[in-house]
This record gives sequence, structure tokens and C-alpha cells, in this order.
Amino acid sequence: TQACLTAIDAADALGAFVHKTPEIALEQARAADARLAQGDAPAMCGLPIGIKDLFCTKGVPSQAASRILQGFRPEYNSTVGQQLEDAGAVMLGKLNMDEFAMGSSNETSVYGNVINPWRRGNEDTALTPGGSSGGSAAAVSADLCLAATGTDTGGSIRQPAAFTGITGIKPTYGRCSRWGIVAFASSLDQAGPMTKDVRDAAIMLQAMCGHDPKDSTSADLPVPDFESMLTGDIRGKVIGIPREYRMDGMPAEIEKLWADGTAMLRDAGAEVRDISLPHTKYALPAYYVIAPAEASSNLARYDGVRYGHRATLAQGDDITDMYEKTRAEGFGHEVQRRIMVGTYVLSAGFYDAYYNRARRVRTLIKRDFETVFADGIDAILTPATPSAAFGLGEMGQDDPVQMFLNDVFTVTVNLAGLPGISVPAGLDGKGLPLGLQLIGRPWEEGDLLNTAYALE
Ligand code: GLN
Repeated sequence: TQACLTAIDAADALGAFVHKTPEIALEQARAADARLAQGDAPAMCGLPIGIKDLFCTKGVPSQAASRILQGFRPEYNSTVGQQLEDAGAVMLGKLNMDEFAMGSSNETSVYGNVINPWRRGNEDTALTPGGSSGGSAAAVSADLCLAATGTDTGGSIRQPAAFTGITGIKPTYGRCSRWGIVAFASSLDQAGPMTKDVRDAAIMLQAMCGHDPKDSTSADLPVPDFESMLTGDIRGKVIGIPREYRMDGMPAEIEKLWADGTAMLRDAGAEVRDISLPHTKYALPAYYVIAPAEASSNLARYDGVRYGHRATLAQGDDITDMYEKTRAEGFGHEVQRRIMVGTYVLSAGFYDAYYNRARRVRTLIKRDFETVFADGIDAILTPATPSAAFGLGEMGQDDPVQMFLNDVFTVTVNLAGLPGISVPAGLDGKGLPLGLQLIGRPWEEGDLLNTAYALE
């Protein structure tokens, strides 16, 4: 813990930690020492981790990287955060992220950018660590903590993991409680671990899973011992390679990465089959209707009354002025764009044309996966991202859709509620890490982790 705290202080320039909690960390570390001395050590006893700013942490600022939550110190821990604490984990502090987890580059944070610890060849260009869990990814990659929590609504664990050479798993929707995690799009959001390798992911995920009566969508299912399932034996497993993910203009390096990963799984004794997920091309448009729709509803609670920031009012301003001024000042541009898009697609005149249609598309995407799983596919292998990490300011400045395209391989998994993992799979020609994604059957994270373990 002390070594991490020192490393964190030395790495302020990365912008990964937005709030440090050394007193809490040292107190928890001492308690962990005492438990270890008594021979009563839970699974994560004394392991120093970082917590994404989207998680409510008792008495500690929890702002979802937004101005509108300035000054908010929750009275409680998120369920997942509490479970990690109960498992002995030590909290080093809160990690930077895109505002309300909306983004793919961590550039929408009120705290400013996070710098990817990796460099493109000999260039000085600062690269993004991806997003929205950019602080988590950079912190783990730069050895500021052993692991970090992330959340993934459309790829926010897997894409930053791929951009920084670490492992990140989004579990099946309902595996981890969402209680106490600031909501973005409630039907898509899931928490998960971001770690240095698959074994750490298995151990940390174990601590984060389980039924929570405070989240009505959390599943009341037994949680298997994920670590004990890491045998590396994948003989006889059937891996699907979806042809629709072979996009036009895909960089040759990504093609090669995918082919190499496929060969590795085949060499390990898996059977590889070409499969089709025909509705893949509708996933991004459906996601960028459904996620903003849910966000516009979830973000209605930030009204200047209940939490955080309130605008200074002029003489004669009424309550509507208070709402308007507070929300105009408190939300950044990307969040405002999502609220407007979401409100539009939910409005009476457009609800059927956009929101309902997107929901029907979502069902078709889910069925695509159900069909291949019913045909015997155990896991699906794809690239995690269409490129390696890009430079700060390089993407989406004039056209937000350019940024949205980064999520092309990840959003299908959230729409279908499936578990997905990104594992580091090598470097591109300029020495930047690239990730491969494995998508598993619902509730079979143990199997998925084991397949990822074989790929590691
Ligand atoms: N990049 C996607 C978005 O901006 C996904 C974000 C996430 O998974 N939280 O919505």
C-alpha cells in the first residue's frame, strides 16, 4: 500500500487518480496486516486497489467526473465497493473517468484528461487510455495499484483495458449489483474488475459478484469459484469467429491479431468455427438510441436540489431558472448531447420511430447470440477495438460519431447482456498494446475466464 501511495504521488501527471485516500488506505492496510497475522485473511486481504469515481464511496467525494456532483460525499458505499472492502481490499483513492461514463477517451471528465502510460513509437504525442474507465486502466497499467474497478455500459471496461495492455471483464448483466454506482444506462451498466491478468480478474470478480436485494436486476444465482476454474484446458471448446466483425477498412494489424488469437485457441485444442451474427451492423445505432434514452431519464435527478452543484441565481429567478442554470453549468457538452438525444427519442412523436425500434433491434441482436450458443458455440473471439490507443484530441472533435465508432465491437455484448473480456494480445507496429475480446454464454464467466487464460 505504501509503495502504491508513493507511486501515485509520483504519477500525478497521468491524471489517473482524482481523489487520493491515503489515510483510509493505511488504516485498511493495518487492519489487513492484523487479519493476516491472525491467519484470518479473506481473498483480497491487503491488496491495494483504485475505485472508479462512478462508485459511491462513504465519506469520500464521488462525482462521476462531473461538475454537477461537486461536493457530493455519499453516506454509503456501493454494494460492490463494500464487498471488495469486506474481502480485504485496500482503497487507494478514486479514479478518473469520462463524465457519467459517457465517452471512449476519458476526455469528457471535469478533472481533465488521463494520459496513457504507453507511447506510440518514439513520438511524444500523449495518447488516451480509452474510456470511460480511463483512470482505472492507466492506474493499473502504470503500476499505481494492483487492480481497479471499472464499469461497462458499451465497452468502458474492455476498450480502455485493450488500450493500456491490461485485462478487463464485463460480467453478465445482473452478476454484480449496480446499487450505489451512479447510473448511466441502467439496462446496460455492469461493474467489473480491471487487472493485470486473468487470474487477478477471476479473484476480484469473485469478490464483486453476488445477489443484492437492493438491486432488483441483480441475479440470485450461486457464484462459482472462478479461480479454481482456470485450468487452461480448453480442449473440445467451440470458438465462433463472427464474419460480421470483419469490417471494411480494418487495419491489417488487427486482422493479424485476430488470426493469431484464433490459431492460439486452435493449438490449445479448441474447435474454431465461422459464425454469423447478422444484426451486428445495427448494434451501434441501437446502442446510441437506448443508452442516451436511459441516461436522459437517470440524469433527471440532478436538479440542483438533491445533490452537488447549484447555480448562483439572480434576483427574480424561479425554480425553472434554477434547474436550467444548474444543469447548463453542471453538465459537460457530451452529457448534454446525450440528454438531448435521449429526450428526443423518448418524446411522444418519435418514441416508436427511434426508441421502440432500437429495442426491437436489441432483441434481434440478443437472438443472434442465442442462436449460435444453441448451435454449440462456447465463446466468440473478436478484436476488442478497431484500433490501438489514439492521441488526445485526435478523435471526435468535429464529429462525435467518429468516437462512437470505437465501440463497434463492444456494444453488442451489453445489448445482449452477455459476459465479455478483453485480454492483452500483443503490440502493434508502433509498440502499442492491442486487445482481443472473448464473449461468453450468460452466467458462464468461469468458462470465459478459462478460455481467456488459455489466450494469455
Ligand atoms: N463509449 C460508450 C459511450 O460513450 C460506452 C461507455 C461505457 O461503457 N460507459 O457510451
